[in-house]
Amino acid sequence: MKLYSTNLKADEVSFETALITGLAPDKGLYLPKDLPHFSEEELTSLKYEPYPEIAFRLLSRILEGEIDEPSLKEITYDAYDYDVPLEEVDENTYIMRLDRGPTASFKDFAARMMARLMQFYLKKENKNLTILTATSGDTGSAVAHAFYGLDNIKVIVLFPETEVSDRQRKQMTTLDGNISAIAMDGKFDDCQALVKQAFADPDLKHLNLSSANSINIGRLIPQSIYYFYAYLKLREFPEEIIYSIPSGNFGNMMGCVLAKKMGVPIKKILASVNENDEVPVFFNTGEYSKIEPSRNCISNAMNVGHPSNLARLVTIYGGEMDETGHINKMPDMDILNNDIFSTSVTDEETTAIVREFYDNYGIFIEPHGAVGIKGLLDYRAVSNDDTLAVTLETAHPAKFPKEVMSAIGVDPEPPQTLKDVESREEFVEFLEADYEQFKNYLKEKLD
Ligand SMILES: *Cc1c(COP(=O)(O)O)cnc(C)c1O
Repeated sequence: MKLYSTNLKADEVSFETALITGLAPDKGLYLPKDLPHFSEEELTSLKYEPYPEIAFRLLSRILEGEIDEPSLKEITYDAYDYDVPLEEVDENTYIMRLDRGPTASFKDFAARMMARLMQFYLKKENKNLTILTATSGDTGSAVAHAFYGLDNIKVIVLFPETEVSDRQRKQMTTLDGNISAIAMDGKFDDCQALVKQAFADPDLKHLNLSSANSINIGRLIPQSIYYFYAYLKLREFPEEIIYSIPSGNFGNMMGCVLAKKMGVPIKKILASVNENDEVPVFFNTGEYSKIEPSRNCISNAMNVGHPSNLARLVTIYGGEMDETGHINKMPDMDILNNDIFSTSVTDEETTAIVREFYDNYGIFIEPHGAVGIKGLLDYRAVSNDDTLAVTLETAHPAKFPKEVMSAIGVDPEPPQTLKDVESREEFVEFLEADYEQFKNYLKEKLD
């Protein structure tokens, strides 16, 4: 697999290099030049396999030549040791619950695979690495858990102090060991900007920093697998399927775009966002402007005013967008709008959906999943398209007890993994959103 940068100024690299370095040296994002295309026979042969086997067989084609099959098989089975339920709402609507991993977030799918792949390459080369990651909540905990206890990898997690829930915070701050947590006096976008600046800083080059955000291609590729999985379980080739994806940085949705490119018959990708509506506005008008600061919504893991994966999406549809959000070349908006429908959902609508699903179906969802459902309902209302649709539940309702409680008056029972952190001691550093302060912290911590 060869990968190129969306800014087109950096050399092509191997999968290993893209995985270990994260961001390209020209500040662009890596994308694979070629992806395999899976035939009907190949897809159909996987229909009755369990999730880890499907992941292993697809990844062994996608990463052909990058990792030996026995190692890949071990990694895949170890990473995916939990359920992926497909919950029926009605005959045309399913919820794929991606909330059964160790941190009860869909981000476990990517983080666990990426951590193990990094470990594989670092061991082979006898190297050390520090992962620097900005999070609006769920990435940090998923990444921290995925890397916890690995000898040659340190993790530093930055989160906006006031934008994460207590449970989210505790999942990052109670690990200690090779995991450090920083509570930042700022927004998620500030955290992300500091991380990006550190990566580009020549003074810090010797620290061997890498990213685990959705900018890392090692996270995107595993996020394409569950789109194959739900398709295989619910449809017969060549029937089509629709996915609705609650989106913030658009990494999850990029996984769906990749799955479509690799042969899954996806009729429409619904990219559903909260009140941070810069992407639906861009799709509708062709004008892109970031939202600064990002708007605070109850689906807080999606409070993103400038999605880092947008440059990838623009590239895939034939355009060019730099890291500041400036478009050098417009993508083909007709094809883009034909493949993807993006809609913005208010907090009020989100809460109403949480309530409606509990009252009408007895189904617990949390605000992010509710945004996905509302996106589907909006799409159906304008299109009259009743193709079977799967909407993604990206976190366990118990990760957002306040929001769920205020919608339905019931406190969802947390899974054991979340209960475990409640009473543990927290280890956390408080910093201002200031680059010099952050840089000094990194030097003290790592030099
Ligand atoms: C991160 C996150 C999202 C958004 O995913 P992106 O890949 O950033 O679009 C949605 N829901 C939850 C619960 C998340 O943690």
